[in-house]
Amino acid sequence: MKKVFIVGHRNPDTDSICSAIGYAHLLQKSGGNAVPARLGPVNDETRFVLKKFGGKTPALLKSGAGKDLILVDHNELSQTLKDIEDANVIEVIDHHRVGNNVETVLPINFEIKVLGSTCTIITDRFFEERIPITKKIAGLLLSGILSDTLLLKSPTTTKKDVKAVKILSTLAKLNYRVFGSEMLKAGTGLVRKTPAKILETDLKEYVQNGFKIAISQVPVIDEKDVDKIKNKVFLALRKSCEKKGYAFHLVMFTDIDDGNTELMGCGPKIKLVEKAFGKKFDKGLIFLKGVVSRKMQVQPAVLRVLKK
Ligand code: MG
Ligand code: MG
Ligand code: MG
Repeated sequence: MKKVFIVGHRNPDTDSICSAIGYAHLLQKSGGNAVPARLGPVNDETRFVLKKFGGKTPALLKSGAGKDLILVDHNELSQTLKDIEDANVIEVIDHHRVGNNVETVLPINFEIKVLGSTCTIITDRFFEERIPITKKIAGLLLSGILSDTLLLKSPTTTKKDVKAVKILSTLAKLNYRVFGSEMLKAGTGLVRKTPAKILETDLKEYVQNGFKIAISQVPVIDEKDVDKIKNKVFLALRKSCEKKGYAFHLVMFTDIDDGNTELMGCGPKIKLVEKAFGKKFDKGLIFLKGVVSRKMQVQPAVLRVLKK
């Protein structure tokens, strides 16, 4: 049986890594030959999670050529393997907008659900297939949901996510609020990172109307930390735009306790971002009250102005 690689997006987050591990486990239990893989380094938050539950770091996949792939937590060409055209994508499981997609020769299962995380979809699959969720897998899937929904506080959270969290925390034998805050904290620590690292850790590229843009998101606990690093991050944004040809590159500094975002940005089309939010950059930042979700609250607003 040909081996199938399950991969999340570039600059992987906890949902990408844990949904790949979870789905690989499910397929193995149903007699398949599947392994989780990743497209980049695991971040500090995910490292914490893997250590906590004894999960192995998936192998790094450098090329998709000739391989059978299942994409989880993404579906856009700009967020996947560079040589995806040479791979054979057999399934997609995701919870994002449908963007510029992979082409396939044969029909495939392509499941996009409006849920808080891909790990929620995978949890559902376990229920549907009646495959028991081990304590370790429960912990990993739980982490993916809590990470993507910011402990069920993000507006992307649905009833299904809440239900999955309740079941998985019982199976993993832990209090999800206590564990979740520890996990989110493990992913912060702005001041000790280089500006390039701050931007790259959770960066997503989008192509809209011929424009290429990037949106990075950085979890912050102490807002004062943003002031300490904003000048050097701005220089890194400028460099990134020049190097990658972005129409703009935005970074969301999201205060995970208060649930607000400070947005910073740079690039030739940056004025469009001011238009998108009806606000001007003030000392390099736009304050977005109650904004925590890139996918639902930032990306649609900026992609819309690029469409016009
Ligand atoms: Mg993700
Ligand atoms: Mg996700
Ligand atoms: Mg995320």
